[in-house]
Amino acid sequence: MAGRMVESKVGMDDGLERIVAKAEAGQRVDAAEALRLYREAPTAVLGRLADATRARKHPERVVTYIIDRNVNYTNVCVARCNFCAFYRPVGHGDGYVLSFDEIFRKIDETVAVGGHQLLLQGGHNPDLPLAWYEDLFRAVKARYPDFRLHALSPSEVLHISRLSKLSTPEVITRLIAAGLDSIPGGGAEILVDRVRKLLNCYSKSTADEWLRIMGEAHDAGLRTTATMMYGSVETDEERVEHLLRLRELQDRTGGFTAFIAWSYQPEHTELGLHEATGVDYLRTLALARIVLDNFENLQASWVTQGGKVGQLSLAFGANDMGSVMIEENVVRAAGASYCMDEVEIVRNIENAGFTARRRNMHYEVLGDPIFRERAVPRRLALDVAKAEDDDDRIPDELSAYDARTPAARLHRAQQRGDGTITH
Ligand code: SF4
Repeated sequence: MAGRMVESKVGMDDGLERIVAKAEAGQRVDAAEALRLYREAPTAVLGRLADATRARKHPERVVTYIIDRNVNYTNVCVARCNFCAFYRPVGHGDGYVLSFDEIFRKIDETVAVGGHQLLLQGGHNPDLPLAWYEDLFRAVKARYPDFRLHALSPSEVLHISRLSKLSTPEVITRLIAAGLDSIPGGGAEILVDRVRKLLNCYSKSTADEWLRIMGEAHDAGLRTTATMMYGSVETDEERVEHLLRLRELQDRTGGFTAFIAWSYQPEHTELGLHEATGVDYLRTLALARIVLDNFENLQASWVTQGGKVGQLSLAFGANDMGSVMIEENVVRAAGASYCMDEVEIVRNIENAGFTARRRNMHYEVLGDPIFRERAVPRRLALDVAKAEDDDDRIPDELSAYDARTPAARLHRAQQRGDGTITH
């Protein structure tokens, strides 16, 4: 089990001192060295090393953030990861699919607060074929030509590839043609198959599959992010292995824009257990900054850690505050519901002694905080995908698409009113 690091050694032995000096000099650390740093270096030393690494890459003391919206288009999922409190099985009364109109409304609200992008992810819904994603992306781009779609993690791409019987590069090519701009790093969890089997997420994608699809996306010209969900059943060694596998792919492709670590959120999950502490988060983040020497950007995960630890992240290697949160469904389902609008994010960045700048998905600076340029609505309550009393959980337009499960095929035939069951 991870997270058992101790700091009983106030002083460091010669071996550890040498590793610290190596990291301080900006030299690459190997697995054994990373493990010793994580387990034995005092938190203040790890923070100093991570902050120095951040300062080498970002000497201008700018911390960025993006205004976008995290939209979960469906919570119906056949993967059934045991750490997930968000999904509903096929046929469950709380299962939903968002209609195109609902997604347009969410985009309108995002644009109103200065946003240019959706982070669009969802469950592995067997009744949404590739054509549904293509039509959605085309419809978004037709209505909002400058809007960006950061959508569909590698596991979702693999799910669509299995449904459509197309290869993953073919699915990526089709999605890019429809309007996909970038792939989020979700579904990585820990990129070690022993852990993935214990988390029941091995079948949604193995470690090799996740990395292969990311490589294919990079080869197709997309930039993507990388993530890590730590603090469940992995060992310290496996946490380090995850980082090294990401570093290896980044050496080959250079396609990752950023790395985001978040702690496993245990509430309402089948797996249970406890959440990692704030110190463990800061140590893990600092270790990632030291090990991932070929990543430019590290995000602070204030969505799982809260604003205050999120702010502290800026002293432990993070140079980005992620997204202004308008909507969140996944970690909220597992117990965390932190919310900051642009004003709050900027206040936290500036109070930590940095300059706050807005960015796009490629981490290019767009400008100063938008609320200083024009009046934007403040949002201090998190929105959710579907309101409790919203009974339109299966939009009528789905009747135009093939379904995989018998129940959905029958429902769609009834929606069409013609008794035709598509296959
Ligand atoms: S984490 Fe994603 S793939 Fe796994 S059960 Fe939840 S929604 Fe499905």
